[in-house]
Amino acid sequence: MKRAVLAAALALGLVGVAQAQPYPSRPITIVVPFAAGGPTDALARTLGERMRVSLGQAILIENVTGAGGSLGVGRAVQAAPDGYTVSMGHLGTHVVNGAIYPLKYDLLNDFEPVALLAANPMMVVSKNDVPAKNLRELIDWLKANSGKVAAGTAGVGSASHFSGVYFQNLIKTPLNFVPYRGTGPALQDLVAGQIDMIVDQASNSMAQVQAGKIRAYAVTANKRLAVAPDIPTVDEAGLSGFYISIWNALWVPKGTPREAIAKLNAAVVDALADPAVRQRLADVGLDIPPREQQTPEALAAHQKAEIDKWWPIIKAANVKAE
Ligand code: ASP
Repeated sequence: MKRAVLAAALALGLVGVAQAQPYPSRPITIVVPFAAGGPTDALARTLGERMRVSLGQAILIENVTGAGGSLGVGRAVQAAPDGYTVSMGHLGTHVVNGAIYPLKYDLLNDFEPVALLAANPMMVVSKNDVPAKNLRELIDWLKANSGKVAAGTAGVGSASHFSGVYFQNLIKTPLNFVPYRGTGPALQDLVAGQIDMIVDQASNSMAQVQAGKIRAYAVTANKRLAVAPDIPTVDEAGLSGFYISIWNALWVPKGTPREAIAKLNAAVVDALADPAVRQRLADVGLDIPPREQQTPEALAAHQKAEIDKWWPIIKAANVKAE
C-alpha cells in the first residue's frame, strides 16, 4: 500500500517538488576572512542584516582569519557550490593575494562573482603621541626612526600591508610591520598606543579619528572624503599620486546555480538602495557603486582590471609572503 502511495506521488511529481526546495531554504553563511570588528566584518554585518530581509533567511557571519585573508577565502571556495556559502573579500584578498601567495585556488576561475559592495580609500593614521602635525612631518619622523616604527597590518598581503609597503617604498624608509588577524584588533592597539601607525581603510579608522583618539594625515584619493573634509588628500599633503581604493565584494564558489547568484545579487542591490544602509556606509567614508556597477558582470570586469593594474605594481614593490 505504502509503495502504491509513493508511486502515485512520484507520478504526480509531488516528491520531486518536496525535495527541490526554493533557494534559500536555510541560513546563508558569509565567510569574512578577517577578525570581527574590522571593516570587512562590519560591512558584511551591515549588509547581511538587510540581505536577510530580502532573502527571508538568516545570514551568518563566519570569521576565518589568517594569511592575509587567504585562509578564509580558501575555506569559502571549497564549500559546496549551492549558494549557502559566500566569500566576502576585497582588493587584498581577491587581487593582491594572487600576486604574492601560492594560492590553492584561482581567483578568477574558481569563483562566480555576485556583486561589488562599496569602496573607500586608505588613511595614513598614527597614535596621538607621534610628534607630527601633518604628512610631511610624519615622513620626517619616520625617516628619523627608520625601521623602528611599528605599523599594524591585517597580515601579509592584506590591504593594509600592501598599502604600507607601497607607502614605505614611496617615502624610501622601511617600516616595521606588525601583523594582526584584521585591522579591527590593529586599530585597538593603535588607540592604546601599542603600535605607532596604520595605513588603514577610512571605514575602519573614521570613528577613532573623529573622536580624536588617533590622528589622520591624508586619504589615498584625489578627492577629500565628504564625511571628513578636514583630512587632506595625498596630493595636497605631499605624497602625490599615492591612490589606493579598497573595494569590497561578494563571490560564491564556481558552479553555484545561476538562480542563487541572482537572488544573492538582488539582495545586495536591495541593501545598497536602503537609505539606512547608505547612511551607515557614508558615515564611515564608504562609497556605494552606481546601480550599473552592482551586477556580477561588472564585478568580474572590475576584478580582472584590478589584477591587470596591481599585479605588476605588487611584484615590483616586492610584497612577499614571508
Ligand atoms: N581592512 C583589512 C585589510 O587591511 C582587513 C580587515 O577587514 O580587518 O585588508
